Amino acid sequence: MRDMKRLLRKGVENIHPYIPGKPLEEVQAELGLSEVIKMASNENPLGPSPKAVAAMERELKNIHRYPEGPCTVLRNHLSERLGIRENMVTLSNGSDNCALLVGNAFINEGDEILMAYPTFLVYETIARIMGGRPVSIKLRDHIHDLHNMLGAINEKTKLVFVCNPHNPTGTIVGRRELDEFVKGLPEHAVLVLDEAYGDFVSAEDYPDGLDYVKQGRNVVVLRTFSKLYGLAGIRVGYALGSEEFIAAINRVREPFPVSRAAQVGAVAALGDEEFRDRVVQNNEEGKAYLYEEFEKLKISYISSYTNFILADFAIDSRELFESLLRQGIIIRPGYVWNYPTFARVTIGTMDQNRKFIKALTKVLGKDPA
Ligand SMILES: *Cc1c(COP(=O)(O)O)cnc(C)c1O
Repeated sequence: MRDMKRLLRKGVENIHPYIPGKPLEEVQAELGLSEVIKMASNENPLGPSPKAVAAMERELKNIHRYPEGPCTVLRNHLSERLGIRENMVTLSNGSDNCALLVGNAFINEGDEILMAYPTFLVYETIARIMGGRPVSIKLRDHIHDLHNMLGAINEKTKLVFVCNPHNPTGTIVGRRELDEFVKGLPEHAVLVLDEAYGDFVSAEDYPDGLDYVKQGRNVVVLRTFSKLYGLAGIRVGYALGSEEFIAAINRVREPFPVSRAAQVGAVAALGDEEFRDRVVQNNEEGKAYLYEEFEKLKISYISSYTNFILADFAIDSRELFESLLRQGIIIRPGYVWNYPTFARVTIGTMDQNRKFIKALTKVLGKDPA
């Protein structure tokens, strides 16, 4: 018998593979349904930015050539928009990969990696791949408990992951709390601020992670084209940080992480303001509708700053997942985060939201008929 424990890098055995939202195509084939609505992975219900699609189509004739590794054009656009120098941003194939690169560059075996519990599952995996020790601090009222997190920092702490707004709860930490946390961060630790959903937040109190980068703090900000811009399938995201931090990340980056299509698509999407406005408007409208319907159904939900809502459906989340699936609706059951009666629902188009509520009403046996 092969001794896998001996063959594998230490810690790899303890990693649970990431379980993604159930793919739409799979459900369609399994159940023979003509229409399946996926509200499980916080994808953009309006599709990709049309300008991005056009740009990517035009680029296809060039794909026999390697992409440009440093993504110069896209980096220029970003640095200009954000008011930072070009060497304070680096791109990769999704912000998940940027988080991994941060882990590759910073985590030594035995380092403690601080994060919330529950939180985005990728952070724990990254810590374990690098032989780090994940340390989890429970959320308080579904919000990062920054006070306790700061208290848990010690000599061994290397990275702190804070997801703001937070997946899966949809909550934010406010500017005052985060300012205080950043000020209290010792020099040997780095805050990784995952702002995948930052584009959806309009709250005055929401702290822009870029401010910390501009102040020269030990902060790396992660952002993505997957959500607001609707480019999840082409994989492009970026990290912002001091020149030193970005140079460190670039050392461990592969040579050509972002495809040609992704680079031109992202540039075009940045210029597609009309699309972004439409996405935000659809999201706000859908959120208000779902809140209202949840209230009618006496479902308690967590107020969300994102394009998804975590709600307590008061039944076993696997059961809810299976029942909705049979009606062609995919949601994310909460048991994976130890929220056994909760589920996370991505806000869809208004048509999808209405179909979801109709199916939900039936599943919960609250059909007025
Ligand atoms: C969706 C999401 C991302 C984005 O990942 P990509 O790799 O850029 O597609 C990052 N962090 C969180 C918390 C997310 O939910």
